[in-house]
Formats: sequence, structure tokens, C-alpha cells
Amino acid sequence: MKKYDAMIIGTGQAGPPLAGRLTESGMEVAIIERKLFGGTCVNTGCIPTKTLIASAHAAHLARRAADFGVAVEGGVTVDMKRTKARKDYVSALSREGLEAWLGNMKKCTVYRNHARFESAHEVRVGTELIASDRIFINVGTRAFIPTISGLDRVPYLTNSSMMELDFLPRHLLIMGGGYVGIEFAQMHRRFGSEVTIVEMGPRLMHKEDEDISKGVSEILEAEGVEVRVGAKCIAVEKQGNDIRINVDCPDNPAESVGSHLLVAVGRRPNTDDLGLEKAGVPTDERGYITVDDELRTNVSGIWALGDCNGRGAFTHTSYNDYEIVAANLLDGEKRRVSDRILAYALYTDPPLGRVGITETEVRASGRPALIATRPMALVGRAVEKGETQGFMKVIVDAETKQILGAAILGTGGDEVIHSLLDVMYAKAPYTVVKRAMHIHPTVSELIPTMLEELKPL
Ligand SMILES: Cc1cc2nc3c(=O)[nH]c(=O)nc-3n(C[C@H](O)[C@H](O)[C@H](O)COP(=O)(O)OP(=O)(O)OC[C@H]3O[C@@H](n4cnc5c(N)ncnc54)[C@H](O)[C@@H]3O)c2cc1C
Repeated sequence: MKKYDAMIIGTGQAGPPLAGRLTESGMEVAIIERKLFGGTCVNTGCIPTKTLIASAHAAHLARRAADFGVAVEGGVTVDMKRTKARKDYVSALSREGLEAWLGNMKKCTVYRNHARFESAHEVRVGTELIASDRIFINVGTRAFIPTISGLDRVPYLTNSSMMELDFLPRHLLIMGGGYVGIEFAQMHRRFGSEVTIVEMGPRLMHKEDEDISKGVSEILEAEGVEVRVGAKCIAVEKQGNDIRINVDCPDNPAESVGSHLLVAVGRRPNTDDLGLEKAGVPTDERGYITVDDELRTNVSGIWALGDCNGRGAFTHTSYNDYEIVAANLLDGEKRRVSDRILAYALYTDPPLGRVGITETEVRASGRPALIATRPMALVGRAVEKGETQGFMKVIVDAETKQILGAAILGTGGDEVIHSLLDVMYAKAPYTVVKRAMHIHPTVSELIPTMLEELKPL
């Protein structure tokens, strides 16, 4: 049995950079991937969806050309084969680059097979048994498929199979009004599909503040996406060549019919077939691996990084997990998951950039706070670009003057939000940004102006 200094299961966003650091430090490392190098982000998540969203944006802008005084002769059509080819190319750049990098990495052995624990230090990879005293699990998640009557008898799509579409669905039904469902909804509407979102909760993205959910719904509805909320799917069935979702909903109709169905109701960790019980590594009731603040499991020598530990659900949180583990193991530092500040974006157009806690959470905490908001219609850069949908808001602790949270639903929101995030990391008062001179004309230049208008929450 071959024994390594370290073993990494999965090549998501944490495993490969960790392999780089561990081998640099002189360790012999095994890294195991059962399917596509780069995992979800590279193959079925961030990179391909944002590439497709760029195509959808081009179509949208072409349709709006006249608003800018530009003539586009004839109608705008989208060649789905070419948008897919562009997406495949961009994904492959990352995947192949990563695979080559790992393949050429000194002291690193790459295994291409499913890995399963045989004990706390032994892992079976195909027919081989390999061992290590340090094992890092980075196995990620996959689409969660709910138990709904008839769902197993209709063809449905997930974020993974959506990547194979090279044709335009006539009418895309999307079960789930979360981030994944919303991004696919706007993208496909812009490609030319009819789109219906069926969400059982009272609003889209239920963890966001109500004004954010409302703003996102308005953006989607303005483009013709049908948004059905408070609509619980109770059964799914074929209707001729179509698919029908029967919904339990106070509003009519009691069904939604479309040509294709995307199931986007959440994720589940890839831990059910990993032999964790043989290693003695516990999971929570949903299968996420239980870890401490430094990402150690309860078994000495086994760590869990990325989405499978339930402590984050983003590429940047997985990468940050790698940084925490590497710093603690190799640099003698003491970094923790709880040191990081929640930050993410929703890639609608315009996007939503979010950091820290929500207004709802601040109100519930009862702490004295200040709030300022500004509609994007009062942001010069947004007006110049003809993209005035949305608004920004920021919430500040009235006593410490530190920023508690912010949301920018508007053009550039995914980038602009970082000017607030970095001040939060610096634990500096909001007045630092308020007094900063920002560049004109940008969306960011209105952040200091907005902060001048803070008032009690
Ligand atoms: C549609 C969609 C869009 C997204 N967009 C964004 C975005 O814009 N920004 C963002 O930050 N995040 C986004 N995410 C989330 C992001 O993709 C993940 O958070 C990110 O990929 C982190 O994944 P990971 O490192 O935990 O593992 P993953 O990337 O999921 O990789 C895990 C790897 O482990 C392999 N594996 C699993 N089990 C085994 C086993 N037993 N043996 C061997 N190999 C195994 C898998 O094949 C996979 O390659 C999106 C997700 C989806 C679904």
C-alpha cells in the first residue's frame, strides 16, 4: 500500500491550491478526482454560468440598441450552439489548465477515480488502497432533488445537465427561486425562452431583505419572467410533450406548464458515498461534514474544506478554507473560519453585491444602527449607462461606527461592494469611506455621498 504525506479528495476550489502548498513544503501528495477537474465552479457552476450570462447580456443589449441610438438591422437571435461552444471553451481553459498544472506538479500523484475511506487513514481509489496521516476532503455538493410525486417520471434538468443544452427551451420551468434558479431564469429569458419560476416561499431569495427580493423580482418581471411565489410544487407530470407542475398556491392557476423543467431547490453534499462512517467522521443531518473553526473534523488528521463542510457555499469560501488550513498547518498562523465576513454576489443584470448582515438581522438584534439608501436612478454612472434599476443600502453600528452590512443591487454592484467589504475587514469606521475621494463618474463615487445621509434605523 502506497503511503503519502498528504491526501486530497476532490479537485474543487480548495484541494488544488492546497496540493501546491503542501508539495512546495516538501510533502508527497496524492490528489484524487472522480470526474471533472475543477469541480462545480469550473464545470457546472460559476464559470460556465457567468460565461452564458455574458452571451445573454449581449443579446439584451442588442435588443436595447435603439435606446442608445444604435440601429441593429433585423431581429436579434441567439445561436445556442455557439453560446454553448463559447461556454465550453471558457470552462475548458480552466479545467485543462488545472489538470495540466496538477499533472506537472512535482511530488504530486494524480488519481482519476472515486475515493472512499476504508479507515481513518486508508482510502480506496478504484482497485488501489492508499494511505496518509493527513487527509483533506474537498468533495463539494450536487443538486438536491426533492421528493415530489412524479418527478422521477419526467425528464428534468439540473445545473449540471443545463450545461449540455445547445438548443433553446421553448418554455423553461424553474423549480426554486434561489440564486441558481434566478440566474438561469434571466439568462434563458434573454436567450428567448418563456420562463416561469415556481418558488414555494413567499418571495425569491428568502434569506435576503424583503426590499432586495422585491427589487430582484421587479428586474425579472420587467423582462417577462413569470415569478410565482407562495407556490409549492406538489406533483409533476407529463402533459403531452410538455411538463406540468401542480402547485399548492392561493393564487390561480393551480399549475404551470412548460417544455423543460430545471430543478434548482438547493444542494446536497457529496458525502453519502465517501465511506465516512469507516473513518469515524461525523456529518450533520443533511450530510455536511462537521468541522471546527479551523476546518478539522473530529478525527485527528482529517480536514474538510469547501462546500461539503456546510460553512460556506461559494468558490471564495472554499478558497478561503484552503488559505486557513495552509496558514495554520504550514505558516504557524492561527486563522479561523469565523474571522471571515459574509460576502457574495447574485449575477443577475444588474447584479446584487452583498456583504455582512442584513437589515432584517440588524433589526432583530435590537442594536442601535444607522441606515442609508440610494436608488440607482440617482447614480450618475447608472443613468449614463441606461441601467438605473435597483438601489444600494448600507447599515452602520451607531456606537462603533463600523459597517454591519450592505447591499448593492445595481450596475457594478458585484465590484463596488468591495469598497465597503475591505473597510469592514479593516474594522475601520464608516467615516473613512465617507471622507475618501472616489473617482468620477463611477457607482463607487456615490458611496461616500450615501454615507452622508445615514439616519437611525
Ligand atoms: C449554477 C451554479 C452557479 C454558481 N455560481 C457561483 C458564483 O458565481 N460564485 C461563487 O462563488 N460560487 C458559485 N457557485 C458555487 C460554487 O460553484 C461552489 O461553491 C464551489 O465550486 C466550491 O466547491 P468546492 O471546492 O466545495 O468543491 P467542488 O467544486 O464541488 O468540487 C468537488 C470535486 O470533488 C470531486 N469528488 C466528489 N466526490 C469525490 C470522491 N468520492 N472521489 C473523488 N472525487 C470526488 C467532484 O467530482 C468535484 O470535482 C455556483 C454553483 C452553482 C451550482
